[in-house]
Amino acid sequence: MEKLKVKIGLEVHVQLTKLKTKLFCSCPSDYRGKPPNTYVCPVCLGLPGSLPKVNSKAIEYAVMVALALNCKINRKVMFFRKHYFYPDMTKNFQITQYDRAGGAPIAVNGYLKLSTSDKEKVVRIRRINIEEDPGKLVYPTGSIITSPYTLVDYNRAGIALLEIVTEPDIETPAEARLFLQKLRSILEHLDVCDCGLEGAVRTDANISVAGGGRVEIKNIGSIKDVEKALMYEILRQKEALLKGLSIRSETRHWDDVRKVTVPLRVKEEEQDYRYFPEADIPPIIITEEFIEKIAKQMPELPDERLKRFQREYGLPYYDSSVLVSNKKLADFFEETVKLYKRNPKKVANVIINDFLRWIHEKGLELDNVKAKPKDIAELLKLLDNGIISIKIAKTVLPEIIVSGKSPSQVVKERKLLKISDKQIIRQIALKIFREHKKAAFDALKDKKAINYLIGQIMKYTKGRADPAVTGKVVKELLTDLKEGKLKL
Ligand code: ZN
Ligand code: MN
Repeated sequence: MEKLKVKIGLEVHVQLTKLKTKLFCSCPSDYRGKPPNTYVCPVCLGLPGSLPKVNSKAIEYAVMVALALNCKINRKVMFFRKHYFYPDMTKNFQITQYDRAGGAPIAVNGYLKLSTSDKEKVVRIRRINIEEDPGKLVYPTGSIITSPYTLVDYNRAGIALLEIVTEPDIETPAEARLFLQKLRSILEHLDVCDCGLEGAVRTDANISVAGGGRVEIKNIGSIKDVEKALMYEILRQKEALLKGLSIRSETRHWDDVRKVTVPLRVKEEEQDYRYFPEADIPPIIITEEFIEKIAKQMPELPDERLKRFQREYGLPYYDSSVLVSNKKLADFFEETVKLYKRNPKKVANVIINDFLRWIHEKGLELDNVKAKPKDIAELLKLLDNGIISIKIAKTVLPEIIVSGKSPSQVVKERKLLKISDKQIIRQIALKIFREHKKAAFDALKDKKAINYLIGQIMKYTKGRADPAVTGKVVKELLTDLKEGKLKL
């Protein structure tokens, strides 16, 4: 059963959140947190007689994304109406694009390369559509299953989306996660989408196991959940196949509270949508000059940035790839290096090994971390100058992440300065020797006992004692003890 072939294709809906207005009207696009049904007008509500007008910046952004995903850009772009009845759509059709009946999406036939630990994987991009977002259905108890009724908010209706569709080239849930992470990093480098916003990136995942029916899991809100939903589906389908059941093609919903998929409906066929050309929007001609102009203005993308990190900062491939997998993380790294130029590798180590771990542990996102690059740089300088020990640095870090205080402020407030004064350490060591007499005498011939004593001193000083000075002091005391100059 383990060998059953899994085929996964993704359909990713990306909001162009960096646009100021919606796709076909001048309603503002920053609808999040606004009172329901206040960011609406006759066009996005689809009232009779209203006429859509294409946001030209949306076309520009779509061309940028298409170029970044190595797509062929169609020169004549048309919009189509896709009909369906659902309360999130007042017009009963969505203005989108279509690749048949004379239609053409903005871009087709691209690819995205993923690096996995053992190979390079190419995921082909079938097409990119520009389309409008429907309104948002609100489930008062949080779930489609448990809510007794549903509310609808049209503030989101008409927000510009790119629908990015892959070929079913993905073979594991982990590859799906890598694909989405890389796509997200590209979109953020292009500055077309703030992908961390709630609902800014929503994924439909198509999966079939061992040539069985194609199951579509709709509207998964986060990259982590895409991976989980796919793992759940693979297990569910394999179990069914083991029992001799066949998998039917259907649409399922990912319940992100219970972490299961549940059946929604038998999948609609394409002909059910009755696609036809949107007569209110004339075809858009995309010229060679337009594409060239955009190609010239393209910012640095993750793949190029990764190479630059290796070249410019001497980082290994692994470090560079972790950093550029998230634009904000890569920016954070570069800001820190500007303030701490002497050792970029050290900065990468702190960010990847300690900083990221604490962010996960505290359940934070990079956006709500209070520590700034200047704080990380300051922490490293305190360490270099011998003002704090490595152990202290590791206790200061989680505190600056949550509190936003500077490292030196934390060190001062919590009295964490390193103790390097030999006299002070000697006094502490004597106290420890007297409290652990047996260990002190054992230490005359046993190295383990020496380490035990040093450990006790560190424990007593909460890691503040300078390790080099402490080692020296302990050695001196042991000599005195041996020669009878020290009485315990
Ligand atoms: Zn509007
Ligand atoms: Mn769509």
